[in-house]
Order: sequence, then structure tokens, then C-alpha cells
Amino acid sequence: MEIAEAKKMFKAGDVIMRQGDKGDCAYIIEEGLVEILIEKDNGTIQQVGTRGEGTIIGEMAIVDDAPRTATVKALKDCKMLEITRDDFSQRLKNADPVIQMISQVILTRYRDTLTRSEILRESDNFPPPEALERSYAARTDVVESIKIANEFKAALENGDLELHYQPIINLGNGNVSGFEALMRWNHKKDGFISPGVFIPIAEKSGLIIEASKWALKEACAALGRIEKAVENSTPLYVSVNFSSHDFAEDNFVSNLLETIQNSQIKPPQIKLEITERLLIQQPDNAKETLESCRDAGVGIAIDDFGTGYSSLSYLYYFPIQVLKIDQSFIRTIYREDRSLELVKSIVGLGKNMGMEIVAEGVETLEEAELLQNMGCDSAQGYYFAKPMSEQEVIKKLCHWKPLRLSA
Ligand code: C2E
Ligand code: CA
Ligand code: CA
Repeated sequence: MEIAEAKKMFKAGDVIMRQGDKGDCAYIIEEGLVEILIEKDNGTIQQVGTRGEGTIIGEMAIVDDAPRTATVKALKDCKMLEITRDDFSQRLKNADPVIQMISQVILTRYRDTLTRSEILRESDNFPPPEALERSYAARTDVVESIKIANEFKAALENGDLELHYQPIINLGNGNVSGFEALMRWNHKKDGFISPGVFIPIAEKSGLIIEASKWALKEACAALGRIEKAVENSTPLYVSVNFSSHDFAEDNFVSNLLETIQNSQIKPPQIKLEITERLLIQQPDNAKETLESCRDAGVGIAIDDFGTGYSSLSYLYYFPIQVLKIDQSFIRTIYREDRSLELVKSIVGLGKNMGMEIVAEGVETLEEAELLQNMGCDSAQGYYFAKPMSEQEVIKKLCHWKPLRLSA
């Protein structure tokens, strides 16, 4: 791995970084010598060490975004290699997930130790180290996250992940038009673990990228098998969830198209579910990616629509085919007029823009009828069906009778 090219020169006497400032870079000292100074609360300044050639300074602040704990001043003219926070994040993102997490833990602990020794110097009644360790453990879930990330990695390799499929119902004719693929982790000891627990950890550790590739491949294969088994008159589709990490991959689109091509299904039978947040975080990258998907015939659905607090102008900017109204609005559609009006507005807006509207989390017949009456195209929720295994889907579809909602 290459080290960032940026070189920085400092003259003897220059302040290289200042205690209390936010740090956006670290330096590797190529030539020269620096001193590390700590200013105490009473204003006195103490030299706590020096660093010379081949050492690194300022590394902690670029990891945890906390203020610099010391001032660093050049004692001799210095030549440095600058490592920016962006460069560091990029490297960390490419590293093995366990290394990512362990480096974070070590640096956090190191900072804790420094803080402790600082306080020790200034206070007589400092809590014992064990108490600090315990409070550290209570404050951070890093260790637990590493454990789960490790186990998740093994689950991915050992085939302990499964996809379940939740039917999406066409409110016009009462038939199943497609499914949302939802990941399930069948843990050897703990049974099924909710994606609410492991998806955020998989995202943080970078494992989500492999997991998403697996999910896409599996969803395509499963849809091919389901279609063969049930012989539906119209093609079914499957909607697969993707995170911003997936979109940041250079070969996301080529991998997507290759996977579809190697399966029995056609591009329009795949929809990518992404959140508004992703579009806001990486607008340029997302636009290019989504346009390539659209050109290839793959559909784009905005998940949890209405919870992103973003400007609606992005609906024009990106090629979006489906809006999925977040279940929190459906939940209160009967209790709160505001939810009802909001859902009506989303349906109207989406339809005017030629989009398909899917309501999520429909749990009662009343909700389904209300949505149908306001012109909502499709719905998904426990009222119709819970997420289920591929075998259960096949069984259900083979005996499916079109649902009759209100006239
Ligand atoms: P989501 O994408 O919004 O998925 C819908 C969630 O709502 C699912 O939870 C589903 O089981 C649940 N749900 C469906 N109908 C109803 C209903 O009528 N009432 C209620 N209360 N809930 C309903 P699940 O499967 O636990 O997934 C949670 C979240 O985990 C998903 O939210 C999604 O953000 C994430 N997730 C799941 N699978 C994947 C995946 O393969 N990749 C990625 N990146 N994220 C995933
Ligand atoms: Ca979703
Ligand atoms: Ca959702």
C-alpha cells in the first residue's frame, strides 16, 4: 500500500499541531526532531517527550476525531509525510475488518490511558484502573461488535446466512407482484439474529459488501427457482437492500449486471432498495451508478421514504422508479390526520412523477383499503404475509387467491 505523497516542511520553532485543535492529519517524520508539549489546566506547559525520524505524530486525532491532546513543535527543521484523515479512512476501509476494529480499540484505549495518566498527575483521589476499565467497557460496544463481526464473517463463509422473502402485493388486482429479500442469520447457538443487530455491524466492519454480493446472487437464483415452480403469468421481481458502502465500490454496477446475467432472470426483475441518506451522502457517485442501472433496466426503489428529511428536488435528479413509504407513517395513518395527509401527498406526488408507490408495514385490512382508495399501487406487510423462506413462498404462491379489498 502506498503512503500519501503529500510532503510538508517545518522550520525549527514551528508549531506543527496545537493541543485542543481538531486534527485532520498525522505526520510521519522523515527528517528532523519534534517535542511534545502538554499544557495543564493551571497553564503550565510540560515537555512529555521528543520524536525523531521514522516515528509518527498526531495519529490518534485522525482516528477518533477528538481534539489534539498535545502540542507538537519542531526542534529542528523537519520533513514530514502527511497522512490525512480521508487517506487514513480510505486505507482503513480497505483493510481487513478485524484489523479495522482492533486498531480503533487500541487507539481508543491508548487515549484512555493517556487521559488517565494525565488526571493521575493532577489528582489524588483518582478512581482505580479496574473501575476505569469497567466504565470503558460499559461505554463502548466495540468488543462485542468485533465478536459479532467475526462470527458474521464466519457465517457468510459457512453459508449460515439465509434470505427470506416478503411478498409485495399489487393493490389493483390483489396478486403478488414481487418480494423484498431480507437477510436472516441463523446463528448456531443463538438461533435467528435480527438484521437490526447485524446489519449495522456488517456495515461498520465493511463485511456488508461481501454480504450484499451474496444476497444479490442468492436473490436472483431464488427468484429463478420460484418462477419455475409457480409458473406465474407475469414475471415476478425481487427487491434487494443495498447500503452506501456497496455503492462506493468501483465495480458495483458491473458486478450487479454480471450477477443478473449469470442467472435465469432479467434486469427488470431486480430492484435496488436504497435510502435517501445514501443519495445525500454520495450524490455524484449515486447519480452515475443509478443511471447505469436504469439504462440496463434495473429498477431503483427509495426505502423508508419520508424519514430522510431531505429536499424533494432529488426525486427529479435521480432516476427513481419506486417510492416505499416508511412504515412509521402507515402505523399512524388511522390515528393521526397528519399521517393520513402525508401519505396521500406522497402517493399524489409519486404518481404525478410516474413512480410506483409501495406502502410498507401494512398490518390491517383497514390500512390496506385506505391505501388502495387513495391510489397507492402496492403494499407489503404482516397483513398480507411475513417474510418467509423460499419454500414457504413457493407453497404460498401455488395456492394464492387474488385478495379482494374494498370495491
Ligand atoms: P427494511 O428494509 O425497511 O425492511 C422492512 C422491515 O420491516 C423488515 O424487518 C420486515 O420484516 C419488517 N416488516 C415487514 N412488514 C412489517 C409489518 O407489517 N409490521 C412491522 N412491524 N414490520 C414489518 P427486518 O427483516 O428485521 O429488517 C430490518 C432492516 O434490516 C431492514 O429494514 C433493512 O434496513 C435491513 N436489512 C435486512 N436485510 C438486509 C440486506 O440484505 N441488506 C441490507 N443492506 N440491509 C438489510
Ligand atoms: Ca428495505
Ligand atoms: Ca423500509
